Formats: sequence, structure tokens, C-alpha cells
Amino acid sequence: MKTQQIIALRFCRLPSVNGAPGLVSLTVSGANGNGSGRKIGDLTDVALRGRLAHYDLHPANEVAGIRRALQPDNGEVTVHEGWPGMDSCLKFWNDFTGSRIRPVEWTCEACAAVHRDNVGASVGEIYARACRCGRIQRITTASEIPARP
Ligand SMILES: [Zn+2]
Repeated sequence: MKTQQIIALRFCRLPSVNGAPGLVSLTVSGANGNGSGRKIGDLTDVALRGRLAHYDLHPANEVAGIRRALQPDNGEVTVHEGWPGMDSCLKFWNDFTGSRIRPVEWTCEACAAVHRDNVGASVGEIYARACRCGRIQRITTASEIPARP
């Protein structure tokens, strides 16, 4: 059996938008933590719950603690998972069936700023994003289509 690598997953609640909770940003780093983590993308609560529950790696009380930590805006929590390596961890968190992390691009109708984010959300799920100018954009998650070359 290969030595498992312990990977630190840092979750941070993005500011709420119009009273609705913001997405949860995910940053990944090796547990020996030489500084900066790697930003993976932003997840909806549904997408986060599905991943945390998948392998039964996290007992119910830990999941409840994670949820509590992420209730307030900018709430943060770090969770550790054992993986054969960083690649398999990233593959799992990126490609989770039903809420794959995908690039989402939208243009603000007020100030024309172009936003590019990587978001993991379930098909049909709707979430809100705020532009720096204050305008709020609602984004509906489309069904999975093959990426264009
Ligand atoms: Zn704007």
C-alpha cells in the first residue's frame, strides 16, 4: 500500500449576495503546507455536501462542524483528507459526477466587466454572483456539455 498523502482542503464562505449565502471557495494544499494553496474553484452547498459525503471520510459531527464554520460570510474551515496523491484528490474534487467544476463566464450588464470563475454546481441549480459595481447576476447551471476545443 502506498503511503497516503494528507491533503488540506480549505473552504471559505464567499460574501452573501442579496441575502442568499455565497458560494464556498476551495483551496487545496499539501498538509506539510509550504505556504500558498492552489485555488480550485467555488462550490455551491449542494456540490460541497455531495463531495464530503461521498466516501464517508467525514463523520456526521465533522460535517456539522464544517457547516457551522461556513455559516457566516467569510467563515473558514480546513479539512484533511488522505489520498494516494495530489492528482487523485484534485480529480475527485474537480470531476465529481453531477456537479463538476467548470469554467463559467458572464458579462456584467451594467459595467460590461467580464467574469471568469470555476464553479461546481448541480445541473439546474441557480446561484447569484455580485459584480464589483454592485450588480447581481443570477446564473443557472446548464447541463454538462462537452468542452469546446
Ligand atoms: Zn459590473
